[in-house]
Amino acid sequence: MASDPFQEPFDVVVLGGGNAALCAAISAARAGRRVAVIEGAPEFYRGGNTRHTRNLRCSHDGTAPTMTGPYEQAEFLDDLYRVTGGQTDPALAELTIARSRELLGWMDEQGVLFQPPLGGTLSLGKTNAFFLGGGRGMLNALYRRAENLGVRCFYDTPVTALTVQDGFFVSATVRHAGRDATVRGKALVAAAGGFEANIEWLKQYWGAAADNFLIRGTPFNRGDVLRMLLDAGIAPVGDPTQCHAVAIDARAPKFDGGIATRLDSVVFGIMVNAKAQRFYDEGEDTWPKRYAIWGRLVAQQPGQIAYSIVDSQSIRLFMPSIFPAIQANSIAELAPKLSLDPAALEKTVADFNAAVRPGTFDHTVLDDCRTEGLVIPKSHWARRIEKPPFYAYPLRPGITFTYLGVRVNEESRILLEGGKPSGNMFAAGEIMAGNVLGKGYLAGIGMTIGAVFGRLAGEGAARHARN
Ligand SMILES: Cc1cc2nc3c(=O)[nH]c(=O)nc-3n(C[C@H](O)[C@H](O)[C@H](O)COP(=O)(O)OP(=O)(O)OC[C@H]3O[C@@H](n4cnc5c(N)ncnc54)[C@H](O)[C@@H]3O)c2cc1C
Repeated sequence: MASDPFQEPFDVVVLGGGNAALCAAISAARAGRRVAVIEGAPEFYRGGNTRHTRNLRCSHDGTAPTMTGPYEQAEFLDDLYRVTGGQTDPALAELTIARSRELLGWMDEQGVLFQPPLGGTLSLGKTNAFFLGGGRGMLNALYRRAENLGVRCFYDTPVTALTVQDGFFVSATVRHAGRDATVRGKALVAAAGGFEANIEWLKQYWGAAADNFLIRGTPFNRGDVLRMLLDAGIAPVGDPTQCHAVAIDARAPKFDGGIATRLDSVVFGIMVNAKAQRFYDEGEDTWPKRYAIWGRLVAQQPGQIAYSIVDSQSIRLFMPSIFPAIQANSIAELAPKLSLDPAALEKTVADFNAAVRPGTFDHTVLDDCRTEGLVIPKSHWARRIEKPPFYAYPLRPGITFTYLGVRVNEESRILLEGGKPSGNMFAAGEIMAGNVLGKGYLAGIGMTIGAVFGRLAGEGAARHARN
């Protein structure tokens, strides 16, 4: 019979296998601890949502060759307060931003490569560093580094139960090679993501609408570890209905469609729901500031479906999409291809066209092309939809990650209900992102939170395990 790979207790047990887990594991191993990474997914799918990422946001002084800049801490903090509407833990927000300054250097030490600044639709060259080879390239470098430091990585090994006594981690039960095993450690780092892939759990807050959500990332983030911790008396943080959700192509797969399914066409035309009605100002603000609200907006529409409609003037102005646009030579012909009532869609387009005021179209600024007299205005980039062929993309809510999590302190140590810090449990990444993100999102901050708190958690767990 094969020997039990979990027989010897580890110093630090890390649950999860994405950015937060690896940053924690590397930090603990660099402090000389014996570390186990318990990844629920098979090796090919290791790394959860981190596999899909492209960049991380960090404050910097402008000297990094991989970013334009500088991006000062005050500006980053300002950006964070704006998107969250102040719903953030002030101390943890400042900590995230202050420690983000170390990340380029730290990642570089671990072998992560970055590419020169990018332009593109979200214009992030100043604030975000892009991984060479994307999230997978970054993960491969972190896994290589972890393994070189002696970290034991167990794949296809979901955690199925936790033994926690009085807020103290004792052991984890895992399913490994077809049987249950017990993993013991002196300290725990929980970095097993949110519950976005758990449709039943989403339904508790969204009802049947959640059946129509598409999950942009890994099917393995079902929130099992989060649930176990909450059941063990850990203090929750965050509103369970809050999540990062964008509108993605409705033809995307249920899980793991990644970034290629996002559509940037919204500001160039109109969005209509299943009743062929517009429902929100498509030109309220620039796309980087608005793309993350459209998932929630579509989730509130009947059947959780919407259609972005543009004409031939605009079709080349946004990043081409992975699925071809649905095309027709008239609005009346386009409507049945979208299962919309032709008369209703024609009226919506005609009303919109009639309300468009003359202006100078410039999609790079908040231009003066707007509508007048509509209940739902279009404030910028409003041009008549009149030049055939006409194009449409069906859109559904694409859930990126959820914000309900476990409460932590400035050491990344998990807090128990009542506020007392756990003796030996830490958390990092999506599973605690709600401490910093009460609502809203700032592109690239998911990886910042994972890396900053992953490092803190790994260092804290290593310190605990030494004592
Ligand atoms: C399409 C897409 C694009 C994104 N792009 C960016 C970007 O460019 N920049 C950015 O900052 N953020 C981006 N994000 C968000 C980003 O992916 C997350 O914020 C970040 O990866 C979270 O890291 P994590 O380590 O906490 O979670 P993950 O990377 O998701 O890792 C969680 C891990 O836990 C494992 N796990 C789950 N349950 C169990 C269990 N029971 N037992 C054992 N293991 C378990 C999973 O298999 C997974 O390995 C993107 C997300 C998506 C979906």
